[in-house]
Amino acid sequence: MKSVLEPVKTERFNLLDYDRKGLAAFFVALGEKPFRATQLLKWIYQEGVSDFDLMTNLSKPLRAYLKENCYLATPEIVVEQIASDGTCKWALQTSCGNRIETVFIPEEGRGTLCVSSQIGCALACTFCSTAQQGFNRNLKTSEIIGQVIVAQNRLGDTKKITNVVMMGMGEPLLNFDNVVAAMNLMMDDFTFGLSKRRVTISTSGVVPAMYRLTEVCDVSLAVSLHAVRDDLRDELVPINKKYPLKELMEACRDNAKIAPRRTITFEYVMLDGINDSMDDARGLVKLLKTVPAKLNLIPFNPFPNNAYRCSSKEAINRFKTFLNDAGIVTTVRKTRGEDIDAACGQLVGQVEDKSRRHLKLKLVGAESAV
Ligand code: SAH
Repeated sequence: MKSVLEPVKTERFNLLDYDRKGLAAFFVALGEKPFRATQLLKWIYQEGVSDFDLMTNLSKPLRAYLKENCYLATPEIVVEQIASDGTCKWALQTSCGNRIETVFIPEEGRGTLCVSSQIGCALACTFCSTAQQGFNRNLKTSEIIGQVIVAQNRLGDTKKITNVVMMGMGEPLLNFDNVVAAMNLMMDDFTFGLSKRRVTISTSGVVPAMYRLTEVCDVSLAVSLHAVRDDLRDELVPINKKYPLKELMEACRDNAKIAPRRTITFEYVMLDGINDSMDDARGLVKLLKTVPAKLNLIPFNPFPNNAYRCSSKEAINRFKTFLNDAGIVTTVRKTRGEDIDAACGQLVGQVEDKSRRHLKLKLVGAESAV
């Protein structure tokens, strides 16, 4: 009889591209039991074993099949920078030669890893430097979970990654399947075992994907709001033209239904003279009263060829006090890793732009801010 484990010559599989469910299906297709998935995850993530020969609870023919047809690969750290506040930024080389960036932010009692989801970004938010890079491609699951693996290996046992935020380069909801599989892996008991409260996905508001996410993956949600009027948001976060505020807030309310005490974090970059007036603050109160919300004000981080300025400390504090007084829990995000360009919106990597949109974007950013 022909063995189901006969080598498939056409394609080799990176097993880091699969979450547990995906691996189980992979093994079932080979005529194996689904629990092989758990065994493999334990070897890889708990024992740190990548040599299939050493995975002794798998049968010899299975080990031989895996050796022949499968491999385990992550992107590689090629540059490491450490900021004066301890924030680490790594440039990671992907198999296609482009580079992505990953940031580790140490804090008292926790360590947060900011993970990229795409090489560059296909959206054109005018205040974000990743947008200026243009877009190359979606990251694979192995390249997303790979950032967590290489970062934790590099940090060693003393600094543990306790939280992951999908807030690096790219729009995670435009790389839905790979991002969801990677987040499933982060939360899997046999891998990193992070709780759903410690894995956050941030989106600029890809409304249909937000509904899908609510259906299939229970993680914390952050929404990049940045404006309370459609005319201004159309300009700052152009995807708003497709999915305006009313639809965005409806999708947020749908997500909030997952659990009774769930809150959604709204991110709001503070741009001097653009979105930081008291009218804007009042607009925020009105909008955020319609959903269980927390507000995180982000001081704008500057980057070259951009005419926006950060709101003054006084303006940010006035905004914060007004919102807190109005009953919206509001915090100001501490800027971290500024001296190595590791702060929000400063991640650029090295992107061969396939969208050819980056030149046009630079102009739009400069024009709309003056
Ligand atoms: N594309 C997703 C994930 C990126 S998260 C999203 O838009 O949510 C990065 C966060 O930093 C987003 O809230 C983004 O709007 C914000 N950001 C981008 N550029 C920034 C800048 N120059 N200064 C401060 N925050 C910025």
